[in-house]
Amino acid sequence: MLVTLKEVMEVAEKRNCGIAAINTPTFESLVAAISAAEKNTTPIIIQHAQSHEYINQIETIGPAMITLAKHASIPICAHIDHGESINYLEKGLQLGFTSIMYDGSRLPYEENVQKTRKAVRLANEFGASVEGELGIMIGNEIGEHTQEVNEEDNYTDPQLAYKFVKETNIDALAASFGTVHGFYRHKPNLDYKRIKEIATLTNLPLVMHGGSGLSSKEYKLSIKNGVKKINYYTYGAKVGADATKNCINNNDAVLFSEISRYAQDAMEKDFQQIIDVFKSITE
Ligand SMILES: [Zn+2]
Repeated sequence: MLVTLKEVMEVAEKRNCGIAAINTPTFESLVAAISAAEKNTTPIIIQHAQSHEYINQIETIGPAMITLAKHASIPICAHIDHGESINYLEKGLQLGFTSIMYDGSRLPYEENVQKTRKAVRLANEFGASVEGELGIMIGNEIGEHTQEVNEEDNYTDPQLAYKFVKETNIDALAASFGTVHGFYRHKPNLDYKRIKEIATLTNLPLVMHGGSGLSSKEYKLSIKNGVKKINYYTYGAKVGADATKNCINNNDAVLFSEISRYAQDAMEKDFQQIIDVFKSITE
């Protein structure tokens, strides 16, 4: 069934677990994510990033996401990831998305507040939830990043996060505490103390961006300290690519449909694994 981010976050709060937020820019990854969540009987968030428009446009993949979410046996939130403009977010809400992220993290603080408030007012008209972002995440959803810069300079300030949440009235906060988008070039150093401080001060579920490619221990410690939504894309998409290569090299598949199904099954297994890790904070 299709639900809002707020509803899914309430489940996470009650169960003290993390919820996978999987980017599904292709039909294969979309079906794989929903099927994985159904098999694990766990709510899930499926999301489309504005930067993934080059893969599939929201008008194409969006209706498929909404329809499949409505018919699923578990609660699913359909979320817009890293919305860069209010127009784009409005288009998504009109298609039936139940949650939006407005990413103003690279703007000056006051401008981020103003634009995020605008996104909240818009979402309210549709009964949808809003994720805001404070602190800069390195890289983006298409894997471009410069991890050489001093990352700690961009970490979210807990006191400013408290102010930001008060001023915007968002439902979830994406904070920067050591993860990066794309592939990890070196082992991340997650600031759990900061996660806990922000979560306690804001009293909101926190969102981990760059949430693929971490160890089971890192996920569980993050969840324990206040992360409730974990964005997962790069490493799952790589599983699909590796499966495709294997299928072509080792199999006698000749039709694209056979190869695409093979990749879908591999991604489903990967999604099932991470959903299982996020389910509990104990090892
Ligand atoms: Zn992100």
